[in-house]
Amino acid sequence: MRRILQATAAAVAGWLGTAGLAPGAVAGEAPEWAIVVHGGAGAVTPGSYTPEDEAGMRADLGLAVEAAVRILSEGGSSLDAATEAVRILEDSPHFNAGRGAVFTADGRNELDASIMVGRSGAAGAVAGVQGIRNPILAARAVMERSPHVMLAGRGAEAFARAQDLEFMPLEWFHTERRRRALEAAQQRAALGESVPARGTVGAVALDMRGELAAATSTGGMTNKRWGRIGDSPVIGAGTWADARCAVSSTGWGEYYIRAVAAYDICARVAYLGEPLDVAASHVVMERIPAMGGDGGVIALSADGAISMPFNTEGMARGYARSDGTVKVALFADE
Ligand code: ASP
Repeated sequence: MRRILQATAAAVAGWLGTAGLAPGAVAGEAPEWAIVVHGGAGAVTPGSYTPEDEAGMRADLGLAVEAAVRILSEGGSSLDAATEAVRILEDSPHFNAGRGAVFTADGRNELDASIMVGRSGAAGAVAGVQGIRNPILAARAVMERSPHVMLAGRGAEAFARAQDLEFMPLEWFHTERRRRALEAAQQRAALGESVPARGTVGAVALDMRGELAAATSTGGMTNKRWGRIGDSPVIGAGTWADARCAVSSTGWGEYYIRAVAAYDICARVAYLGEPLDVAASHVVMERIPAMGGDGGVIALSADGAISMPFNTEGMARGYARSDGTVKVALFADE
């Protein structure tokens, strides 16, 4: 346990005990618990970040993993672990969720989030919300304290207020980096080029009772139109968990919605009997690109297998399991 915490805190790179596996796949040996997180797929390359940003991303991914490890190793639920990991990444200015979310075309941060529990199939989501510090807590409140699955816009904000969730001034969500990304995206859009700047966060977790949970949170895509909703709050597209398989997606949301990507991976596992990594790789490396989209997923099965395929230049990601394997990585070759 201590070793895991030290390793994640130091944002360890390099596979531990997983030599010989395909990149992105970690074999399952029925661990007691596991946590996998992502901080978005996209142009995640060594040249894309300042050394401070890169260090900040690695450190905050490590903090999210570490918080989940603490919960899971003490017998806590996968729901609590996934919620807490995403809450930490939402509060980090380094990722496109909560604070640090990308800007809409008219300079706002409109946030989407969803959460799902495997065995019960309970789910909750919020879409297009502003001012809610942690949209993942609002999604969870929809799941646990309302008869609904998804609330949007002002209705979701009113519900969050009624649940005493924390609100922040709208400027709290702003970061200079995302402001510059909006300006660059608008300049390129004026030239007819599309700029899918991203960085969604997500977590999938397995607890000692064998229960899976998945959670995803995002600001969506830079320069998105007012009212645009991506895949992240859509159950089955951005987030899915059933008794055997849990997925959180990141990528070009329109394609992930049309591919029903997260559900499709778990359906392939359930109906075709495919190993998790085969199913996840098929959807991410074949189906989505064939449609014209890009992105990645993190996936976890009830036997502890982990899959993290992406067809982009990189994907911020990390995991830890009770067997001692632990990793935080950003770039494709890590
Ligand atoms: N999937 C998110 C969306 O389209 C963006 C991302 O994952 O980076 O809203």
